[in-house]
Amino acid sequence: MSSLSALREGYERFDPRAYLHNNYLPPRADFSSEEFVVPWKLRCLAETFATGEIHGRTLIDVGSGPTIYQLLSACDHFEEIVATDYLAVNREELRRWARGDPGTFDWSPFIQHVCKIEGRGEPWQEKERRLRARLRRILPIDVHRSEPLGAPLRPRADALLSAFCLEAVSPDRAAFARALAHVSSLLRPGGHAVLLGALGESFYLAGAARLPVVPLDEGDVRRALDGAGFVLRQFRSYAMPAALRTGVDDVDGVFFAHAQKPLEE
Ligand code: SAM
Repeated sequence: MSSLSALREGYERFDPRAYLHNNYLPPRADFSSEEFVVPWKLRCLAETFATGEIHGRTLIDVGSGPTIYQLLSACDHFEEIVATDYLAVNREELRRWARGDPGTFDWSPFIQHVCKIEGRGEPWQEKERRLRARLRRILPIDVHRSEPLGAPLRPRADALLSAFCLEAVSPDRAAFARALAHVSSLLRPGGHAVLLGALGESFYLAGAARLPVVPLDEGDVRRALDGAGFVLRQFRSYAMPAALRTGVDDVDGVFFAHAQKPLEE
């Protein structure tokens, strides 16, 4: 069995609830200090989208999983947000949240925190309403295909966002770089890519699933962006404190990258 088919088989056991529990509840989602990883991620996104430079008609989020936190600052700047995931269970979790079904994961502390750091005094319910209204398409995706959505996205997206997906679905650095090049084809020339991801991670848990991750360093991310034709605009990294090394993965840190596709391809 190839590593890719082993990965696909692993994802059949991915449990969205367990994944959310492992990563999006305390201690990682502790909003009392930006030393914790979730507020750090939300700060990177809020500051980058606050520049107003990244905007347009469509933003596509690659490998959304069962999470919406990554879209909270972005959603103010696009008419439509397209969420995507390989797994039907994750797409269904997102649809349930977008419809406001009872019993879905409670993202309200995240939304409140983002409204606070954006500092515009916006009621959090207003942001929640806007994201739900703009999250109109939730599509299947496979980043290992040269056409990740199965058909070209026309017109191409003005921005691409992806959080903790490409390294978590790639057996090695070459596959990670290829996956980045595949998803970059969804982006228009001049469009922006915003990436969050794991550094130095070899596995993570999501219920019965133990998913292998390609351990990346900062140089790997920079080289993959360069190889996919992006110009790097911003790079930040975060070292995972000992208190957040809870055993749900072996991540060393997190990277945040903002890159841009040149106007001429
Ligand atoms: N974006 C979310 C976050 O920030 O927490 C979820 C990231 S989770 C670590 C990785 C996601 O990649 C999962 O939702 C999984 O279903 C998805 N995935 C698995 N195989 C994939 C593939 N071949 N193409 C795209 N996404 C895939």
